[in-house]
Amino acid sequence: MKPLIVANWKCNPASLKEGREILNVIAKDIESQQNVEAVICPPFVYLDILKMEYGGLVFGSQDCFWEDGGPYTGEISPSMLKKLGVEYVIVGHSERRKYHKETDEIIAKKVKAALDVGLKPILCVDRISQIPEDSQHLIIAFEPLSAVGTGRPYEVHEAAKMYSSIRQISGEETVILYGGSVNPINASSYIKEAGFQGLLVGGASLRPKEFIDIVKAACYSE
Ligand code: PEP
Repeated sequence: MKPLIVANWKCNPASLKEGREILNVIAKDIESQQNVEAVICPPFVYLDILKMEYGGLVFGSQDCFWEDGGPYTGEISPSMLKKLGVEYVIVGHSERRKYHKETDEIIAKKVKAALDVGLKPILCVDRISQIPEDSQHLIIAFEPLSAVGTGRPYEVHEAAKMYSSIRQISGEETVILYGGSVNPINASSYIKEAGFQGLLVGGASLRPKEFIDIVKAACYSE
């Protein structure tokens, strides 16, 4: 399997123009890395237009709702995303658990709704107890709270232990990612040494040169 590298732009950049500037720098390099699946997850408001303008890239969203439509002000349904050609959806990110009080029950509904329309959910967890029993069809991103957005990456040997525990309970087919202060220097060790099948990248995915270097590092760590 190709390493999966997911760019989570979070609530950035401040304008569509700046989003285009990032993709203008990275698009060619990313598209030419045939041995890596790179996924760009911009804010919802940029998703449709960037998907149309950069048709060679793969896109994901940073969240979705659990219903397919109806009186849910402000929500975006999985089938809306699917119809835009979005392939992946991040669900249960620690920032949504923290600021939006999302519980494991809410997140499980979102995962199911995403799977129902054929989106690939990337379930973020910071501990084993957040992994559902039936997780073999999911992509699980292990994102230790101490490392997300802090510039303090998790020790690779500690991440390796978590990788083994997640693998044991999720089964052989689950794709398991590491996320938390990934940079071009540490990227390959989470894949090569700790065994992860890819990375979820926040801050560094907004810095085009760093993101390209992370994708290249993943490409050569197989
Ligand atoms: C994330 O947003 O999921 C993340 C891991 O952020 P960062 O890479 O900035 O730690």
